[in-house]
Amino acid sequence: MESTKTIIIGAGASGLMAANQLASAGRKVILLEKKHQCGLKLRITGKGRCNLTNACSKEDFLSHVSSPDFFLPSFTAFDNKDLIDFFEQKGVELKSERGNRIYPASDKATDIFFALLRDIEHNDNVEIIKNCDVKHLITEKGGIKGVIANNEKISADNVIICTGGKTYQTTGSTGDGYRILKLIGHKIVMPVPALVGLRTENGYPASLQNAEIKNCEIIITDKDKNIIAKRFGDIYLDEYGVAGPVILSLSREIAREFDKGKEMFLSVDFKPKIDKDKLKEEIISTFKTRRTENASSIVRKWVPKPIAEEMLNACRINPKTMGYKLTEKDAKSLLWYLKFRREEIIGDMGWSEAVITMGGVSLDEIDKWTLESKKVKNLYVTGELLDLDADTGGYNLQIAFSTAVKAAQTIISRT
Ligand SMILES: Cc1cc2nc3c(=O)[nH]c(=O)nc-3n(C[C@H](O)[C@H](O)[C@H](O)COP(=O)(O)OP(=O)(O)OC[C@H]3O[C@@H](n4cnc5c(N)ncnc54)[C@H](O)[C@@H]3O)c2cc1C
Repeated sequence: MESTKTIIIGAGASGLMAANQLASAGRKVILLEKKHQCGLKLRITGKGRCNLTNACSKEDFLSHVSSPDFFLPSFTAFDNKDLIDFFEQKGVELKSERGNRIYPASDKATDIFFALLRDIEHNDNVEIIKNCDVKHLITEKGGIKGVIANNEKISADNVIICTGGKTYQTTGSTGDGYRILKLIGHKIVMPVPALVGLRTENGYPASLQNAEIKNCEIIITDKDKNIIAKRFGDIYLDEYGVAGPVILSLSREIAREFDKGKEMFLSVDFKPKIDKDKLKEEIISTFKTRRTENASSIVRKWVPKPIAEEMLNACRINPKTMGYKLTEKDAKSLLWYLKFRREEIIGDMGWSEAVITMGGVSLDEIDKWTLESKKVKNLYVTGELLDLDADTGGYNLQIAFSTAVKAAQTIISRT
């Protein structure tokens, strides 16, 4: 039987992996990439270091994924251990960091990219066409026939579409897949930016740009002060609001509600391990024991230097006031700043800074066992284009890789 031909739309993490799997099994592939180069986003992942997966247990892994039930068959087909083996067998040395995050030992995302590209670049089964902008799918009698790209028709027996989400659009992920699939009747769950810094009402002074607060607790509340989400960790302050890994995770938890216009507020508890009464006592007793020091020096007991100035300013305390002159009212103000300062969240840093897109092709219309569209036969959807996302920590790339392998395995098993 003559080998069937598969078109893969998008040479990102998912497309490169799908091409790799199909080509290794001797299947013919045409990989179409809109940009002048493949894998532009993959190469900047993890700040150029690529956190390719997370080495936690299966249960833990799935708990970080938005639709674990949908993802399970793909993860079972190619899980985090398989991914680690895959790259190690290709000669990429890997290392594990805090929170089981897996990176290339070289700290170079390009090592992951080239490991994927090398196999397919000079493979007779694979044709890679760059600067190739796919606009439409060609369907006939409920089945896929090919694509229209750069105004030309390219025929194929199978199509895998993996055009990614909408973030960091200069990498080529501009949300094309949503439009292309909507045209053939697929439902798209409204895409929203997630894993992104949050803008707050007043932000922080520019002088605090990137000041880090360690071991704090971030609490997000509604207008009636009901808690919506909270997390411990380290954050960065900037003139627009707050950023850092904990904020990114929280942004994902609130993205959908926030997009619907729900009012939300953010507070930073600088001292989550001390309750408010104890902290107030501690502040008052510090005023007494350090009575000959000025306020600027005293408050450094609780916050780093750049934040000390901003805190005194916000609390309307003169930094030169000596400890013995500080009052109970001053202690209350400091307590407010350290535990209860609450600012309205007015937005996020947007598509240009979001790590992932939440939303995408509705999972109801994709068969989780094959990743085939339930609307068009032999059309497969993988990666971030799906309404499937996860926390920071390497989970999102694993989704892109696992779903690619699952779709490729389906095609291989059927042809
Ligand atoms: C700055 C940043 C850092 C990140 N770091 C990490 C990390 O360390 N770990 C992690 O797990 N996740 C990380 N992510 C998320 C991760 O990169 C994505 O989830 C993953 O790349 C999704 O893979 P994909 O193949 O589905 O889509 P993409 O990687 O976005 O690839 C889609 C490809 O399709 C192409 N394309 C789009 N439209 C068309 C069209 N019409 N015709 C032809 N081609 C088209 C695009 O040019 C692109 O090459 C990061 C994301 C960003 C933005």
